[in-house]
Parts: sequence; structure tokens; C-alpha cells
Amino acid sequence: MLGLMQGDHLLISSLIDFAANHHGDSEVISKRVEGDVHRSNWSEVAIRSKKVAKALDSWAIPGGERVATLAWNGYRHLELYYGVSGSERVLHTLNPRLHPDQIVWIINHAQDTVLCFDTTFLPIIKAIHSRCPSVKYWVALCDESALPKDADLPITVSYEGWIKPHNIDDYIWPTFDENTASSMCYTSGTTGNPKAALYSHRSTILHAYAIALPDVMCVSARDSVLPVVPMFHVNAWGLPYGCAISGAKIVFPGPALDGKSVYELIEQEGVTFAAGVPTVWQMLLNYMRPLGLKFSSLQRTVIGGSACPPAMINSFRDDYGVEVLHAWGMTEMSPLGTLSTLKNKHLKLSKEDQLKLRLKQGRAIFGVELKIVAESGELLPHNGVAFGDLYVKGPWVIENYYKNDGPSPLVDGWFPTGDVATIDPDGFIQITDRSKDVIKSGGEWISSIEIENIAMAHPAVMMAACIGVSHPKWDERPIVVVVKRADHKLEKQDLLAFYEGKIAKWQIPDDVIFVDAIPLGGTGKMLKTKLREHLKDYNLPVI
Ligand code: AMP
Repeated sequence: MLGLMQGDHLLISSLIDFAANHHGDSEVISKRVEGDVHRSNWSEVAIRSKKVAKALDSWAIPGGERVATLAWNGYRHLELYYGVSGSERVLHTLNPRLHPDQIVWIINHAQDTVLCFDTTFLPIIKAIHSRCPSVKYWVALCDESALPKDADLPITVSYEGWIKPHNIDDYIWPTFDENTASSMCYTSGTTGNPKAALYSHRSTILHAYAIALPDVMCVSARDSVLPVVPMFHVNAWGLPYGCAISGAKIVFPGPALDGKSVYELIEQEGVTFAAGVPTVWQMLLNYMRPLGLKFSSLQRTVIGGSACPPAMINSFRDDYGVEVLHAWGMTEMSPLGTLSTLKNKHLKLSKEDQLKLRLKQGRAIFGVELKIVAESGELLPHNGVAFGDLYVKGPWVIENYYKNDGPSPLVDGWFPTGDVATIDPDGFIQITDRSKDVIKSGGEWISSIEIENIAMAHPAVMMAACIGVSHPKWDERPIVVVVKRADHKLEKQDLLAFYEGKIAKWQIPDDVIFVDAIPLGGTGKMLKTKLREHLKDYNLPVI
């Protein structure tokens, strides 16, 4: 039809061009594997990502080919984000926390051609390279002089040596269809083999627009953003793109994720906004608390990936003056689905009532439709009480897994998230559980998240996981596995008494088990499957 708007395709290369042209001196700071802090900016990232594109051209890597990374958050990883996707190849971020056998399986499934790795991961490369026949080129993310020369490594080039000779004066990013694949990420896969979500240029750009919105992450050119969430986990929740769209300063923590390092980086780089899973913030607060430290620049932090305990939200706000934005999403959703920010009418509510809303996983953002469905298939009302299986749809929600493994996961065009949730009349969702973690006791459902949140509010509890164990009469009963805070005393009966009056009597766990540590998965989430395995011979106490 004549007279329409221009139909330019939404391409990731336009993000880096924009950031370089309009926010070229906005900084890109990286704590490096080398131990120092590296200073770059969007302009340099743009130049060097074009060099990556030309370096890939020089190896004649065709469009659509997978280029894998095994890397921490840092400027070289960012350059690969733009250089690989911008030149029509597919960036495949590998999770180094997986077992080497799983990494091998994933590389062979993705058929990666190039693998770029941080030198921290040399032991993994040594363990896997002979089993990855599709990988023709190995690139160590370091200077030429730091190139590891061990005999049991594949032939490897240094990243700096690889990109240096390429002249980019005449280089223009290629243009192609916005529905072309840009990057991919395998799901943690708690059951069966991992499956890959394949993102497109279009889905990535729309998601980047969405996360920058004021009621979402509100990323702006005034921000200094610290993505602690790894770039190998769903593209660091889209922040490498969202920061380019906004021209924000970006600060990468590299491998230094302990409380002290994260705190010092926040202070040194004037970080205003950070993002990560609850376990990372737990480490940070555990470091700061005994030393009486405060933040001088941090204003807000997005916490998601698993339920954020209310005690953490309260502590951030009351003790440190930092607003917590509770978010929910998943690999199959690029990942953002909902984020908890108040509406105008909520500003009149008491602090306590506002907190109740902030504790929820948030409300939908434009681009993500939500519905909840009963086991019978009946659509459930948005009344904040009815709970059922949560379904989503939208332009950055998966249609099918990479290589169409198995039947399409969609049901009537909607993706079943595997989460159980309520939706209130204002559109706020509350995740009560993963459907497989819900405890089914005597025909009623008990939310493991609620049990964990109460335990976490006890001053002597550092971490808590609630799982169901089988019961002859009730089918399943909840027990809570607890890691105590150092130097705190806590008896089983004290914690059980702490539940009284907070939830119905029949929802109170039947037992408390104290452990030294709770197993965590590759993305920092508690591994309840492992806990269940460890406790398979456990018998409930006879009451
Ligand atoms: P992943 O694909 O590894 O990011 O995992 C996605 C899953 O993490 C979701 O389906 C939820 O079960 C869980 N999840 C993510 N964010 C939250 C949250 N804020 N509260 C509770 N569960 C969450």
C-alpha cells in the first residue's frame, strides 16, 4: 500500500551504530579475568565489533553459522554480541557452570563452528575440545602475549591478534530480514536434554525497547548499569541491548561475583542500577552487613530468576535505600515477562500494602500477554486468588525450540510456562510455584515459595528450600531445608513455631533439616531436584 511508514528491518547492528553515534563516550567498564579494570566506551565497542565481523568474514564463516562464547560479562563478550549477530551469524552463549559433558552435548547439538573463551575456562576447553568436531576455530579472549600454549589445547588464536589486522573504515553492517536468528541460549534443562531458544533480530530489538521503558527497567543515559546476571544466561536479561538503546554506561563484573568485589565495583563506578538473581544479592548483603557499609550511588536493582524473598526486598529498601524491582521471565521469553512497579493509584497505599504488591512478580509489559488456566482447561479469573498454569504469548516468546526438537510446546498459540500463578485485577502476577515444585497435600496445594519466604524472614536463616516428601495419608507434605547464618543458633522447633499465625496450620512444614549448603544450578537457582535426590531415603518424623 502506498503512503506507509519506512519498513526498515529491526537489526541489532542498528543498536550499536546508535550507541556509537549518539553515546560514543558513554563508558563500558569491565573487571577482567586479568584482574584489572578495563575502560572502554560505546564508540570503541562499535569499532571492535566491526573488526569481529571482518575477522569472521576472513574465515569465510557463512551467515546463520553459530559462534559460541564461554565467557564472563565483559567488553570482549559485548563486542562478540554485536560483531557476531550484526554480521548475520548466530551468537551462542554457553553456560560454563554446566558439567563438561553437558557443554559437549550442547555444542554438538548447536553445531558451533567457532568457540571464543575466557582463559579462566581453559580446563573446560581441555576437557571438551576433542569431542566437539564441529568447532573449527578456537579463540582465547586475551592479548597475543597471554595466549595459552599448553600442548593439550586445540590450535587457538588470541582474540586481540585475531581482530587487530582488520580495517573497518569501509565496513557497513549487512542488511537482511529482521526475522533472522541472532542469538541462542539453552535452557537449564532440569529434566531431559537442554533445549535452545533461538532469538531473532526483531524479537531482540522489541525486547530492548521494552526493558528500557520507565515502568520496566527504566534504563536511561543517566544510568550506570551493572548486569551481574551473566551474559551467558538469556543475554544478561537483554541489558547489553537495552543499555545501547539508552546510551547507558555499562559496568561488567567479570568473574568477580563475591560480595566484596561487587560492592567495590558499585561504589567505584557509581552504579545506579544493578540486575541479578537473589543468591548474588544475598552474598552482597552478607558482606556489607557486618561491616556496616552503605551504597552511595545505587538506586534500584532488578531481582529475578527465582522468587525474591520479602526479607531481601525489605532490607534493600529499609537498610540501604535501594528500590527492588521484582521481575519474572524465562529463557523462552527473551527473558522478560513481568516486572513489579506500582501504578499511580497505589501511591496512596500504606507502605505495607505497597510492599505486598512489590513482592509479587509484577505486571505484564506491552508485548507479553498472560493467562491462567485450571487443570480442567478452564480459563481462570484475574482476581488475585484463583491460581493455575500460567501461559504467555507475544513477539519475544518462543514458538518452537531450535531444530524443532519434539512437538511445538504451544497450546492454541500460547506457551505453557510451567509456572503456577495468580493474576490480580491490576494485572500483577504472583508465582506460587513451578508446577513440579508445588506440594500437593491432601488435595490442596502448598506453595513452596511461600514456605521459603517465611523461613528467610527468620534472622537466623541464610537460605531455605522447601520440597515435598511423600506421605502415606496426605500424598505429600512440605519439609524445609535450611542453611543457618554463621554464629546464629536455631532449633527446629523455633523455626516451626515461627510459621504459626503466618500460614494455615496444615501448610506448616512437617520437618526442618539443617544443612551446610543447598545445591545451586548453573544460573544460581536452588536445585530442588538434587535436594530431592539427596533426601530420597528420608522419612518424615512420626508425630
Ligand atoms: P530460566 O529459563 O532458567 O530463566 O528459568 C525460568 C524460570 O525461573 C521461570 O519459569 C520460573 O519458574 C523461575 N523464575 C524466574 N523469575 C522468577 C521470580 N521472580 N519468582 C519466581 N520464579 C521465578
